[in-house]
Amino acid sequence: MQTETITLRKDDDNVVTLVLDDPSGSANVMNDAFRRSLREATDWLVEHKDEIVGVLLTSAKKTFFAGGDLTRLREVTSDTADEFFTGAEAMKSDLRRIETLGVPVVAVLAGSALGGGLEIALAAHRRIATEGAGVFGFPEVTLGLLPGGGGVTRTVRMLGLADALTKVLGEGKQFRPEQAREVGIIDDVVPDQDAAIQAARTWIAEHPDAVQPWDVKGFRIPGGTPAGGPIKDFIPAFTASLTKQLKGAPYDAPYAILAAAVEGSQVDFDTASRIESRYLTQLAAGQTSKNMIQAFFFDLQAIKKGSSRPSGPAPRQARKVGVLGAGMMGAGIAYSLAKAGVDVVLKDVDDAAAEKGKDYSKGLLDKAIARGRSTQEKADALLARITPTGDPAALAGCDTVIEAVFEDPALKQKVFGEIVDHVAPDAVLCTNTSTLPITELAKGVQRPADFIGLHFFSPVDKMQLVEIIVGAETSDETLAAAYDLVLQIGKTPIVVQDSRGFFTSRVIGTFTNEGLAMLAEGVNPTSLERAARQAGYPVGTLQISDELNLELMQRIRKATEDALRAEGQPVPESPAGTVIDTMIEQGRPGRKAGKGFYDYDQAGKRGDLWPGLTKLFPVAEQQIPLDDIKERFLFVEALESVRCLEEGVLTSVGDANIGSIFGIGYPAWTGGVLQFINGYNGGLSGFVRRAGELQKSYGDRFAVPKLLQDKVARGERFEDGV
Ligand code: NAD
Repeated sequence: MQTETITLRKDDDNVVTLVLDDPSGSANVMNDAFRRSLREATDWLVEHKDEIVGVLLTSAKKTFFAGGDLTRLREVTSDTADEFFTGAEAMKSDLRRIETLGVPVVAVLAGSALGGGLEIALAAHRRIATEGAGVFGFPEVTLGLLPGGGGVTRTVRMLGLADALTKVLGEGKQFRPEQAREVGIIDDVVPDQDAAIQAARTWIAEHPDAVQPWDVKGFRIPGGTPAGGPIKDFIPAFTASLTKQLKGAPYDAPYAILAAAVEGSQVDFDTASRIESRYLTQLAAGQTSKNMIQAFFFDLQAIKKGSSRPSGPAPRQARKVGVLGAGMMGAGIAYSLAKAGVDVVLKDVDDAAAEKGKDYSKGLLDKAIARGRSTQEKADALLARITPTGDPAALAGCDTVIEAVFEDPALKQKVFGEIVDHVAPDAVLCTNTSTLPITELAKGVQRPADFIGLHFFSPVDKMQLVEIIVGAETSDETLAAAYDLVLQIGKTPIVVQDSRGFFTSRVIGTFTNEGLAMLAEGVNPTSLERAARQAGYPVGTLQISDELNLELMQRIRKATEDALRAEGQPVPESPAGTVIDTMIEQGRPGRKAGKGFYDYDQAGKRGDLWPGLTKLFPVAEQQIPLDDIKERFLFVEALESVRCLEEGVLTSVGDANIGSIFGIGYPAWTGGVLQFINGYNGGLSGFVRRAGELQKSYGDRFAVPKLLQDKVARGERFEDGV
């Protein structure tokens, strides 16, 4: 029997195989055709149930099933919520009918099953994966959603509340087959698809009466259910990590998952399943999931497909990369390259300094081995790819160079001069400068067309973003090669045009300045830090300033002011600058010195805010509303990003969104700086109205750029490629 996306085949032994195979695309997704097919297939199974002895769920695609249809999910509104709920329930009732058919059902997973894909598999009585199957898990929470296709209800019943929440549902973790088996969402892992089908048939033959544990009379959820009393006493790990991670930030999905799991644990399966659908519907109709789907699915996917890469040049794979400077950044860059299989020549002033840089990789690998995340064999192979040296001639044959010496233009130009005759004649020349204009630097380097900025973030092994900065003379070939390299090492590129502070440093500068300005205005420093956390920022502005170091911030400000003067432009007043100068005068430049806005102990561990702070910057009697503090942070960065777009520093909305979340900690629930404006209450005009209020109360930093006014007038949003 054949439906639009599912083929049913009954074999001689009366086992029916359902092959999920959507002919309209490369993956199976939960679209209308699938829903119709599932209904037809289920009807057929129910009708023929007396003639069959078992069901196999398989897929003809590389991934078992790709999951929910996100294009459709992000279109759900409060007006269409009921319809969405009904559709979700219909699909779930079909899975439930298969689960309770009265014959054993086995899912054969030879490809990844995430989200909705895993939910289909959970309706089977047994899940058998192949060793190379890919990944399993519920990433929904990272998109502001919850697994509403039975994922919450079934995992709670399979694993118990605590494990379901902490291990599977709460953080959106993805598991390789063996890990998934350990966690308990996969039952068996076998070498390949043939072995999996064989194992499935054997299991069917041996378990003719298979039923789900929750369909057996007297079933109790493993570990029991909370009978009254505070939930946090029952599942402390999840609530503690929620409180720690979110600090009151407006992410609704983790709370909805918690509520659906706990409420669902007190009632029967079908009621629990309806509760779960209701919470999913609420999340889908809300703004946060739309923001997160935009950034973490659509924007990210576009970047991975090369949205900001020139399409002309052929793809290029780096094979041997020279890294100049084996300090904090150079050592991290070398590690990331070697991890991706690229050979690295790591050069510093002498062999010993370079060797020290290589030791950094060794340290990371030792930790990974200790945690069971790597093996000695893999570590040795990675280390063998890094050649430390003090000799420029050792860069012979490198197809790419990444410079990460001190932030000194003359030194940077000198080190490029030393190696340029040794490397391949068409080698791409990259600098990891965080502040120096690329076009200026390129003038002192031969071959400016091959020269480009490649701005990594610290710590390099953890930070996913790389900001590519295009100089005035950088060629398309160079940009394409840099883009390919970033993807090759598994990181995420955004592309910006050369300008002071590029995109990320410029925008985060407005965030720290706003915080320090508020301190000068008399905002209570404790409220200031708390408001940033509550808005969803990972750290407050006083903490981040201490980390960055106030002396560095002072140097950057002075350099910027000098440059403005040299260009004959006005130098704006800087209340933040005054705060920085005062703190430096007090001998409190930041964490490295053990003293900044916070106190630090001998080991550098952060303590409380320095009590002397409120003597230097007295707390005003009348405090501004907490919402104003939060919105001053969110708005000042969003408006600066619009200016970057207006000036052509940014050319892509997706790059702005992803760059702000991955590079500078803009809250993920907003979907990024420009999606925040799209999704603001009342849309772009609502945002503009609120910016007007902030401008009136707090200054012209909140003036609305013309580009944004024009968009409002034309009724447009911030979107790429439409
Ligand atoms: P660092 O001081 O840790 O390392 C600089 C290294 O360059 C040192 O090991 C030094 O010995 C080496 N060096 C100096 N002269 C050299 C020469 N002639 N040949 C080879 N090596 C030489 O500095 P870092 O923090 O790694 O920063 C390096 C670059 O990266 C700077 O341009 C910085 O602005 C930029 N950057 C830093 C960060 C950060 O968070 N630290 C982030 C992004 C970009």
